[in-house]
This record gives sequence, C-alpha cells and structure tokens, in this order.
Amino acid sequence: MDELYCQGCGAKIQTSDSGKAGYTPESSLQNEDLLCKRCFRLKHYNEIQDVEMDESDFLDMVMSIQDKEGLVVHIIDIFDVAGSLIHGLSRIVGDHPVILAANKVDLLPKSTNKQKLKNWLRSTVNEYGIKVKDVFLISSTKGTGIEELAQTLASYRKNKDVYVVGTTNVGKSTFINRLIKESTGIGDVITTSYFPGTTLGFIRIALDQHSAMIDTPGIVNKRQMAHYVSEKDLKKIHPKKEIKQRVYQLNSGQTLFIGGLARLDFVKGDKQSFICYFSNDLPIHRTKLEKADELYANHRGELLLPPDEQTMKTLPKLVKHAFRIGDEKTDIVFPGLGWISVLGNVTVEAHSPEGVGASIRSSLI
Ligand code: GDP
Repeated sequence: MDELYCQGCGAKIQTSDSGKAGYTPESSLQNEDLLCKRCFRLKHYNEIQDVEMDESDFLDMVMSIQDKEGLVVHIIDIFDVAGSLIHGLSRIVGDHPVILAANKVDLLPKSTNKQKLKNWLRSTVNEYGIKVKDVFLISSTKGTGIEELAQTLASYRKNKDVYVVGTTNVGKSTFINRLIKESTGIGDVITTSYFPGTTLGFIRIALDQHSAMIDTPGIVNKRQMAHYVSEKDLKKIHPKKEIKQRVYQLNSGQTLFIGGLARLDFVKGDKQSFICYFSNDLPIHRTKLEKADELYANHRGELLLPPDEQTMKTLPKLVKHAFRIGDEKTDIVFPGLGWISVLGNVTVEAHSPEGVGASIRSSLI
C-alpha cells in the first residue's frame, strides 16, 4: 500500500488495527476524502472514539506542541491515579498550563471528602513533577463539574487551543463527546481540520474561529491495571455505580484477597475494621495470613476471581509493599481497583501486580 495520510488528523492510514491511530477499513481506501475512522466518526456523527498509542510515540508526538501556544487538560481516572497520570507530562508540555481533571467521581461514595481528595491529587501530581494550575473533580457520564471546568478552560485558554491528553480508559472520549454535545447546542461548531505539516493523529475540534480542542490518542500505560486484565474482568473491576463500603473486622494474622488480583495482609496491630472500597462486583475473600500463599497458589482463578483464564495469562505476579501506618486514619490504595481504609497503628503488606504498585494516603472518608 502507498503511504496514505488521513486528511483530517494527518495520521498514517493503516487497515490492520482498529484501536490504533490512522485505522480505516479497507473498503474506504478508495474514498476521495480519505479519513481515518476516528475523523470519519467525528465528521459525520460528531463523536470521538479513542485510539491508542504507546508512550514513546506519544512523547515524540506531543513534543510538537511545545512550540505552539495553548492549554493542556490532563484527564485521569479517580480510581487509577497512579496508572493514569502521564509521568513525564511536565517535561513534555513545557510551559503550557496544565489543568487536571479527575474523572469518574460519580463512582465515589457520597461521603468522600472532596477537598481532601483534591489535596491528595495535588500532592500526588507534585510527586510526579507535574505542575497543575487547577484540579477538577468531574463525571463525564453524569456531567458533574463539566460546566465549571468548561468555564475555567475558557478563561485560561485566552483564545488558544486546548489539548486533551490522557491514558486509555480514563474516559477521555466520553469527556470530549460531552463537550461536543454541549457546544453543538449553540450551533454547528464542530469540524475536523487538517493539521498542517504533521503526521500526528491529533484531531481538531473547532471551539471558535481561531482555536480548537485537540484530541490526542490515548497512551497505553504499562502501570495501568486495565492493561493486564481481560475485557470481561475489566467490567468487574470497573465500578458501574457508586461503590458501597464493605467492612471486615480483622485481627492481625488475617488477609483479605481482592478477587485474586490483589491482597492485603494485616501483619501487626490491634483488632480493627478494614473498610473496603472496590467495585461491588469484585468479591473479597478473608483468610488466615498463614494460609494465604497456599490459597492463592491453589485457588486463583477459581475461588479467587477475577482473574479469569485470559487474565491469568497476562497478569504479572503479585509483589509485596509493606506499610507501617501511624496514628491516623489511612487508605491503602490499589491503583485501578480501589482502596482499603484502616484506623491506624497497623503494619500491613499490600500485594499488587508487579508494576502496578500500591500506596497510602490520609483517609478520604
Ligand atoms: P477513553 O479510552 O479514555 O476514551 O475512555 P472512554 O471514554 O472510552 O471510557 C472508558 C470507560 O469508562 C467506559 O466504560 C466509560 O463508560 C467509562 N466512563 C467514562 N467516563 C466516566 C464517568 O465519568 N463515570 C463513570 N462511572 N464511568 C465513566
């Protein structure tokens, strides 16, 4: 095949992988206006679909925005902050102002302390060296916080472009589609236009005559839990509605399994409640610490579900992270899954798939 480029976003046309930038079905190659599927859907249905790209290609691509003016909106998943932050973002985007939008807040328990959550987000992104102008808690499906964010974008961008970046699955397309629907209310402002001189896969969605919102491909992040589980298991671990807490009274020497995807050992401390916040469809199993290794070895994928058969092939081995927690209510966070809240004065060991990690924070609830 000759090298063909999408007339919308400039991505190199390919016919083999529908999830990647530049995909076009073979049957459309003869079309006079050659568009990739993503641009085609935007043009004809005003709808964005996510395509993916690996981190290094993405970095090259985003470097090209360094010499352009504009504002960056970084969408992350509130249930997978560590897995959805783009670690090198500040280095990549240079001096562009960054707004952090933490999506899917509709899934959090109502009693979540939103201010504490924002503070934790700020300090977490700081640890990753990302400087953000502002932090928003949004729900792209329910619309929570979207209007406020849109107003802030309008005031920060000063007629410049807005780049929307995020890893796959954070809800970037849901967010953009929401904004498109809201803006189409005031006329047909949506167009895709050629990005001159680039082979990017960026899509421009006109905001006004001078500037656009720019959708970038979603980055595949190897630290994302979602990356290691089957479609079926992803549905189980991704909450569908507000999560309900599940409380376990534990003595030291007991273990909680989160399906067979993660595990928390209560190593030392007085008897207390371990309050679990995970998708309601994700089973939690309590056992004795001394029996936990054996249970995991013999019953992963059976009693301890998910992982299903397919996930078993891709899920990295569990690695242990020890935390000595002082006299403060603390959340032990399993990125991409949820968290367990304890009162304090405990030593615990959190096991999570290698590369995915685990961390602690001051309790949000
Ligand atoms: P993308 O890969 O970043 O474009 O992500 P999508 O927009 O395809 O969303 C990934 C999944 O998250 C889908 O199942 C969405 O329905 C879901 N999702 C997106 N935004 C929200 C949200 O605000 N709340 C909830 N509960 N789910 C969301």
